[in-house]
Amino acid sequence: MPIIHWFRRDLRLADNTALNAAARDSEGAVIPTFVLDDNLLKGRDVAPVRVQFMLESLRALDDGLRQRGARLVVLRGDPATELVRLAQVTGASALYFNRDYTPAARRRDKRVVAALQSAGVRVESFKDLVIFEEDELLTASGQPYTVFTPYKKAWLSRITPIQPERAEWRLAPLPDLPAAIFHIPAAAELGFTNTQDGPQGGEPEAMRLLMQFKDSGALQAYSTRRDFPGVEGTSRLSPHLRFGTISPRQCYAVALSTLSYAFPAKRSFSPAASDVKKEGADAWISELIWREFYMQILYHFPHAERANFNRAYDVVRWGSGDAALDEARFAAWCEGRTGYPIVDAAMRQLNRTGWMHNRTRMIVASFLTKDLLLDWRLGERYFMRKLVDGDPASNNGGWQWAASTGTDAQPYFRIFNPKLQSERFDPDGAYIKRWLPELARVPLEYIHAPASMPPLVQAQAGCVIGRDYPAPIVDHATQKEEILRRFKAVKSGS
Ligand SMILES: Cc1cc2nc3c(=O)[nH]c(=O)nc-3n(C[C@H](O)[C@H](O)[C@H](O)COP(=O)(O)OP(=O)(O)OC[C@H]3O[C@@H](n4cnc5c(N)ncnc54)[C@H](O)[C@@H]3O)c2cc1C
Repeated sequence: MPIIHWFRRDLRLADNTALNAAARDSEGAVIPTFVLDDNLLKGRDVAPVRVQFMLESLRALDDGLRQRGARLVVLRGDPATELVRLAQVTGASALYFNRDYTPAARRRDKRVVAALQSAGVRVESFKDLVIFEEDELLTASGQPYTVFTPYKKAWLSRITPIQPERAEWRLAPLPDLPAAIFHIPAAAELGFTNTQDGPQGGEPEAMRLLMQFKDSGALQAYSTRRDFPGVEGTSRLSPHLRFGTISPRQCYAVALSTLSYAFPAKRSFSPAASDVKKEGADAWISELIWREFYMQILYHFPHAERANFNRAYDVVRWGSGDAALDEARFAAWCEGRTGYPIVDAAMRQLNRTGWMHNRTRMIVASFLTKDLLLDWRLGERYFMRKLVDGDPASNNGGWQWAASTGTDAQPYFRIFNPKLQSERFDPDGAYIKRWLPELARVPLEYIHAPASMPPLVQAQAGCVIGRDYPAPIVDHATQKEEILRRFKAVKSGS
C-alpha cells in the first residue's frame, strides 16, 4: 500500500529522511505531496518573494520526481482535510513527514496527525531539518541550553561524520489521479505579485551554490571574508536551508570535506590563526550551529515567538512618545532613507533582492531598536515580509539578539555605532555605493557620513544633502544615551 510523503521544509529528493524511509517502506509506492496551506498563504507575515522561491522549488522537485517515474501531487487548503482525502482516494496506508519545530508548525502537525490517525492512517515523523533536535542536547542538569558557546560545544562533542543519502530509488506509477492535482500554480494564481528580485529556488540550484561556495575557496576563506557585506564571502544558502532544498547534513559534510584533520577530534575549537582553510570551515559550521541553536530555543521557549525571551525586559519602554514621529522614522528605516548610508544600503538590498548580509542585518536591527528606539517586533515583522530566507526561529533570534532582549543576546550597553560599523566593514564604501547610487560620486572620506560634506563637495558629488540624500534622522550619540537610560532603569528597577 502506498505511503504519502508530505513535503514541507524539505523540498528536495536527496538526503531526505522521511522520503527515503517512505520509498524503502513502501518499496517505491510513494505519493509525493505538497499542500498549499491556506492558513500559511493568508498569514500576516507571508512574503511574495518566499512564495515565488517556494513555487520554483516545487517545480524543480516535480522535475526530479518525473525523472524517477513519479509526479508531485499539489493540494490546496487545510492539510488536515486534504491529506485525509488523499489517503482515502489513493488507499495510502501511511503518511510520513519531517518534523518542524516552530510553535505554529507544531500546532498544525498535531491537528493533521490526529485527523489522519482517526481516519485509520498510520503517521510517522522524522528528524531532518536539523542535526540535533528537541531534547537531544541538554545541559548536565537536563535543561535546554540558553547560551550559545556551551550549546556549540555539546553539538560538536556529539557530532559524527555524516554521509548524506542520495535519492537512489525509483518510484512506482501513481494511482489514477486527475491531471489537475499535479498543477503547480504561478504566484499570481495564488494572489501574489512579487516585486523583489529574489534568488532562484530548487534543489539543483542549492547544490550548485554549495559546490561553488566550496570550489571557489569562499568556504575556506569564510572566517576572513564573511563580515564584509561588499564581498561575496558567504554561501547564500539561507533560503535553501529555510525551504530544505538542501539539508544541513549536506552542508556539514561538504564543510568537513575541506578540513585536513580527522573529525570528530578531541580538540579545542579555536584553530591556529594561520590555518585559514581550517578556520573557514570551522566558522561556517558554527553558523550552521547558530541556526540549530535558535531552532531549539523556539522549541523550548515558544513564548519568545511574540514576547521578549528575557521577560525582565518587558517593561522597557519603546518609542519616542510621539506616534506620528515613530511612524515616520519606521517608514524611513523600511525605505532606506535614514541618512545613515550603511543602514540605507542594507534596507535597499533587502527591499530589492529579499536577502541581506548578516553583518548589515545586525547593523539595521541595532539601529531600529537602539537608535530609533523602536520595538524589535516591528523590524522582525518587516523582515518576515521581505526576506526570502525569512525563518521564524533565526529571525526572532537575530532580532532579540540585537535588541538585547534575547537569549545570549548582545548586552544592552554594547551599542553599534553605525558610522564605525560602516568604516570597519565597508571600508571602501563598495556596498554603500552599490545600493545607494545617489552616493556614487561621494568621496571616500565622506561616504560613511555624507552629511558632513561641505556644500561645495556636495555640489561636485551631485549629492546635495536634504535633496539627493537625507540628513541623519536621529543623532546617534543622543539616542544611545536615551536607550541606555531606559535599559538601566529596568536593571535598577526604577
Ligand atoms: C536581525 C537578524 C535577522 C535574521 N533573520 C534570519 C532569517 O529570517 N532567516 C535566516 O536564515 N537567517 C536569519 N538571520 C541570520 C543570518 O543573517 C542569515 O542566516 C545569513 O545572513 C544568511 O546568509 P548566508 O546563507 O550567505 O549565510 P552563511 O554565512 O553562508 O551561513 C550558512 C548558514 O548558516 C545559517 N546562519 C548563518 N548565520 C546565522 C545566524 N546568525 N543565525 C542563525 N542561522 C545562521 C543560515 O542558515 C545560513 O544560510 C538573521 C540575522 C539577524 C541579525
